Amino acid sequence: MNIPVAKPFLGEEEAKAAHDVVLTHWVTQGPKVKEFEDNFARYTGAQYAVAVSNCTTGLHLAMLLCHIGSGDEVICPSLSYIATANSIVHAGANPIFAEVRSDYNLDPDDAEKRITPKTKAILVVHQIGMPADIDRFRQICDNHGLFLIEDAACAAGSSYKDKKIGSHSDLVVFSFHPRKVITTGDGGMITTSRKDLADRARLLRQHGMSVNDRVRHEAKTVIIEDHVEVGYNYRMTDIQAAVGIEQLKRLDWLIEERRRIAQKYTEAFAEIPHLRLPVEPESGTTNYQSYSIYLEPGFPVERNELMQRLLDRGISTRRGVMNSHRATAYKHLNLHLPFSEDLEDRSIILPLYVPMPPEEVQYVIEAFRGECMRTAR
Ligand SMILES: *Cc1c(COP(=O)(O)O)cnc(C)c1O
Repeated sequence: MNIPVAKPFLGEEEAKAAHDVVLTHWVTQGPKVKEFEDNFARYTGAQYAVAVSNCTTGLHLAMLLCHIGSGDEVICPSLSYIATANSIVHAGANPIFAEVRSDYNLDPDDAEKRITPKTKAILVVHQIGMPADIDRFRQICDNHGLFLIEDAACAAGSSYKDKKIGSHSDLVVFSFHPRKVITTGDGGMITTSRKDLADRARLLRQHGMSVNDRVRHEAKTVIIEDHVEVGYNYRMTDIQAAVGIEQLKRLDWLIEERRRIAQKYTEAFAEIPHLRLPVEPESGTTNYQSYSIYLEPGFPVERNELMQRLLDRGISTRRGVMNSHRATAYKHLNLHLPFSEDLEDRSIILPLYVPMPPEEVQYVIEAFRGECMRTAR
């Protein structure tokens, strides 16, 4: 057995879409990007969707759209992929790390305690696809006059209060990296309900150019463009977007399949003592971007030892979500976040991908239970 922890689902449809768009000769930010944006907006229920090169650049733009810059503070979890914090630094601002709760999502009470006169926004993460309590964060942000930005890198297709993530706030940013539920190779998407923000995002992603290539191409009169502010090259290519259009068609099915596998794990592991399994909040549903479990004190095997034993049986796992404040890049902050650190150290991400053959799911279940029993005796 050789079971990976994750694998993107890509088929003939994606291959053909990429092939076809190459032969149209329009390969970046053209008609396919527009189509992908329209489809993504419709899927999430957002008013506008703006495609970008990846989620990190999308989050950077979100900061700029909120006029966040030098000296400003943005509260975010440390327990997240490091790009969450980096996007704040890219804007010249300072990430203020707050604790998370046992569902890996930002703790609203701890976040609120860290608000200062310099705070401009809260960057909430729907960690590994699990929806955070958006209304609670919205309330805190409204009370303190802050922007709410959602890092929905992992959360395409997750929902909160019967609406898809992407339709609740002014700035939500998704990732299409292969480790997420749908992929364009690399890629990202900003969704918003505000036309002014969508317009400025479109401007900034293409060098601050006053007219986009598609509009200029279709124009019947000559258009001489201007560059109205210093922008960036954060474009998505049409090749990526063509793949994304096919991936989006599969998203609901992919989530159903992931949910089925997750339920098998949850049923099989429910009786194992000192093990905490993922639980969906009453207010939403996850897309199971990752199946992360927590080994409570008293669990018979040490985390890294368990990962090694599973690897010896041909099963890849990953440690829990990282803490940015522990990475060398942020060590100088000298922070200690005991709850987040404990979560990182005691969590394991199990294999989950589509299509994961039932024999493989069963093999992981038996191997995992076997290792728990072996040491328990
Ligand atoms: C993957 C991820 C990112 C970065 O996404 P990219 O598209 O690779 O830039 C940001 N935040 C979180 C929470 C992620 O999981």
